[in-house]
Amino acid sequence: MGLTGLEIFKHLPKTNCKKCGFPTCLAFAMALANGKTSLDNCPDVSDVAKEALSSAAAPPIRLVKVGSGDNVLEMGDETEIFRHDKRFNHPTVVAIAVNDNEDIDAKIDAINGLAFDRVGQHYEVDMVALVNASGDAATFKAAAEKAAAKTQKNFTLVTADVAAMEGALQVLAGRKPVIYAADKDNYEKMTELAKANGCPLAVKGENLDDLAELVDKIVALGYRELVLDPGSRDTSKVLADMTQIRRLAVRKKFRSFGYPTMVFTSKDDPQEEMLQAITYIAKYTGLVVLNTTKKELLLPLLSWRANVYTDPQKPVAVEPGVYEIGEVNENSPVYCTTNFSLTYFLVEGEVDATRIPSYIISVDTGGISVLTAYADNKFTAEKIAAAIKDLGMEEKVKHKQIVIPGAVAVLKGKLEDESGWEVIVGPRESAGIQKFAKERFA
Ligand code: SF4
Repeated sequence: MGLTGLEIFKHLPKTNCKKCGFPTCLAFAMALANGKTSLDNCPDVSDVAKEALSSAAAPPIRLVKVGSGDNVLEMGDETEIFRHDKRFNHPTVVAIAVNDNEDIDAKIDAINGLAFDRVGQHYEVDMVALVNASGDAATFKAAAEKAAAKTQKNFTLVTADVAAMEGALQVLAGRKPVIYAADKDNYEKMTELAKANGCPLAVKGENLDDLAELVDKIVALGYRELVLDPGSRDTSKVLADMTQIRRLAVRKKFRSFGYPTMVFTSKDDPQEEMLQAITYIAKYTGLVVLNTTKKELLLPLLSWRANVYTDPQKPVAVEPGVYEIGEVNENSPVYCTTNFSLTYFLVEGEVDATRIPSYIISVDTGGISVLTAYADNKFTAEKIAAAIKDLGMEEKVKHKQIVIPGAVAVLKGKLEDESGWEVIVGPRESAGIQKFAKERFA
């Protein structure tokens, strides 16, 4: 949410000296508001005006980075309340808690194993939240050593004890973990540690008012790499707090809340815990810490995250072309579909399950699904015929038969005329492919 030209104009010298290359200060202000020039092009703007303009033009929620080298996670830099208004930028970081007094090797092995490939995308858990459950600084440090050796994932270090935090940072500072958390009693020391190590600092309030006050105190100490925890743990209260923080930051530009947020789930039952995490991912949480490592719960959670954070203006597409499923030969069936990712991978999964090696032609429809593409003239007989030719299908198979989705059976006649191939109308839904293939090709 940038400034308007008139808001910028108020801060300019108003001499119309033209040194910026624009005829008037107002013209310069309008160009600046549209991102067509930079404030640096006016040599006469005062430092006070510069400060006012740059802080007013800063994103409503700060971009905060965790990790180092090739392993950096970004949080924040969000500008929207609703995803369909533009997009959400940085997916919620998903962390799993590991207590310093539990079997660290076993839990970290389980966390490392939480990686999935689904519809052409790779999902994994991002972070380990190492918790000083023992209350002992030496145990916490030893756990940090063990955990650091076991995983390349990023870390959040969870302890209110400054000495314990210092010890763990001796091990992990180079990996720039989140320091959790500064509270009203320890914030000066925790801010010093965060500053000295260049790590993001989580700020934990007892409620929203308390949180805003604490953030202001830490900013006054000169540190802004912050992550906000409003302290609530009850699902509906977390939801209300996260919503309020986002609205105040984005709509009111309330600077004390202009940072990414984090929360811990609080339910013991893994399924209830997952429902909390799903809610928090949907509503604005930058980092969520869970306990369970159950794969059957984490896969849907990470899929949900991917869906919430998909850019609604960009269809998820696979590369158009011909895909070989299994050890194909000149007798293998040829299916065709669109290059909308979800459609393609559903078809691929079903074709794979037929155990009959086959080709799938993914026609370039700009990443939209079969019926939408058909309605928009992007999945036409001409396009499919061109794909058959351009992909050299006549050299790959000798049967000249192609299976089209049942939903576009209407294309059969024209496609036969255009391509000279026999067109077989397949099932309307991909779920019917196995039965269809058994009857037709087995
Ligand atoms: Fe105005 Fe600055 Fe441009 Fe001169 S250089 S016209 S003062 S905006």
